[in-house]
Amino acid sequence: MYYLGIDFGTSGARSAVIDETDQLCWQQSIPFPSPMASGPAQRWRTTLFQLIQAIPPRYKAAIARIAINGTSATVLLCDETGTPLTEPLMYSDRCPPDSLAPLANIAPAGHLVLSPSSSLAKLLSWRSHPLFPQARFLLHQADWIAAQLHGRWGISDYHNCLKLGYDPAQRAYPNWFDHDFIAPLRSLLPQALTPGTVVGPPQATLARHLGLPSQTEICAGTTDSIAAFLASPAQGPGEAVTSLGSTLVIKLLSQTRIDQFESGIYSHWFGSAWLVGGASNTGGAVLAHFFTPTELTTLSLQIDPQQNLDLNYYPLLKPGERFPIQDPDLEPRLPSPEADPVTVLQGLLQSMARIEAEGYGKLQALGANPLLRVYTAGGGAQNAAWTVLRQQALGVPVLAAPQTEAAYGTARLARGYFSQQASSFPESLSKMD
Ligand code: ADP
Repeated sequence: MYYLGIDFGTSGARSAVIDETDQLCWQQSIPFPSPMASGPAQRWRTTLFQLIQAIPPRYKAAIARIAINGTSATVLLCDETGTPLTEPLMYSDRCPPDSLAPLANIAPAGHLVLSPSSSLAKLLSWRSHPLFPQARFLLHQADWIAAQLHGRWGISDYHNCLKLGYDPAQRAYPNWFDHDFIAPLRSLLPQALTPGTVVGPPQATLARHLGLPSQTEICAGTTDSIAAFLASPAQGPGEAVTSLGSTLVIKLLSQTRIDQFESGIYSHWFGSAWLVGGASNTGGAVLAHFFTPTELTTLSLQIDPQQNLDLNYYPLLKPGERFPIQDPDLEPRLPSPEADPVTVLQGLLQSMARIEAEGYGKLQALGANPLLRVYTAGGGAQNAAWTVLRQQALGVPVLAAPQTEAAYGTARLARGYFSQQASSFPESLSKMD
C-alpha cells in the first residue's frame, strides 16, 4: 500500500508518495505561474489533478489514502456546490480593522482570531460582499482542495480551524461564538475533524479520470507548517524542530498548552501533546542580506566554533521582534560592514543560536517540557558550523531532519500518524474522537 501527501504552498504544489515504512517512493513539484491567470482556486484544482495524474501507475494503483495540506488562514467563501463566490483570501491578506473591531469585545483578549489575517477576520470581512447571502461554506485551502476529490463540503481539520477560533481542547467552537455578532456565521463554519481522519472515497467519475483506485480514502488535512513538523522524526514531549529559513521558527512538543498570542506563541493539538510554536524575525534573510549563498558556504568552513566571539548582535532586517522578545520597536544590532567577513558571519550565526536558545528557554519558562533534542529544517540546516554553535547554545543534540518536505509529512498523516498514537491527554480530547 502507498500513501499520497500533497502540499499546497505559496509558490507551488508538491506530491509525495510513501510506502508502509515511510520510504519516499515518488515526489513531484509544480510551480504556480505568477500571476495566476486563471485565479488561484482554479489553478489549485488543475495542479491537484496534474500531480495525481503524473504518479506512476505502479504506485497509484495501490494508493490507500490521500491527505492534503494548505497554507494556514488561506480561505474561500463558497456556495452550496462548493463554488467560490469570491477570490480566496490568502494567508497573508489583512482585513480592514473596522470589520474586526466588534470582535475585540467578544473574543478573549489577545486571541489569535483578533489578528487582521486570521481566518475569522476574513470571514467577518466577507459579510459586506454582495454575494455573501449565497454563502454556505467557509473553507480553508486544504479543505477545498480535498473536497475536489471527495466532493463533501464543510469538512476541515482542527489544525486549519485554529485561526478560525476553534478550540482543540474543547473539541468545539467556543461559547463566545454564540454572541449575536458571530452566531449568524456559525452555519458557515466547517466541521473540524482530527487531521488524517478518513472523509470518504474520491468521486467515481473523477477517480476513473485520474486513475485512482475507487477504494482510495481521502483524509482530513493539516496546515503547511504542521505538515513540515510531521515530516521530522520528532514525536514526543521535549522534541523540537527549528526551521532555519528566511526567519527562525521553533516548534516544541509539550504536555502543557501555551498560548501567549502577543508574543506569537500558540499551541496546536498534536494527537497526544501540544505543538507549541514561536517565530522570531531573525533568520536566513539577514544572512542573505550580508552574503551570497557561495560566500555562506565558503566562509562557514573558516569558522572556529570553539571560539566564542560574544558579539551579541540582534540580526534583523528592520526594527521589531515578536519572539522570544516582544518589542515592536526592537532595533537591529548588526555587524559593521568593515569587519572581517568570517567574524561577521560567526557573530551572526552565534547570535541567532543565542536567540534560538532564548526562544526554547522562554517556552520552557512558560511551562513547556524540557528540551531533549532539536531537529533542523530549512536552508540553514546544511551549515555544519552553525549546527555546532547551536548545539553549544542549546545544550542538547541538534540533528538534521532527514525529511523536511511538507508533502512528505502529509503523506505520513495519510498513513495514519495520529491514529497510530495513543491519545494520553488532555482527558477531554481522548474521550471524543
Ligand atoms: P524559506 O522557505 O523561508 O524561504 P529556506 O528554507 O529555503 O527558506 O532557506 C533559505 C534561507 O537559508 C536563506 O535565507 C539563506 O540565507 C539560508 N541559507 C542558505 N544556505 C545557507 C548556509 N549555507 N548557511 C546558512 N544559511 C543558509
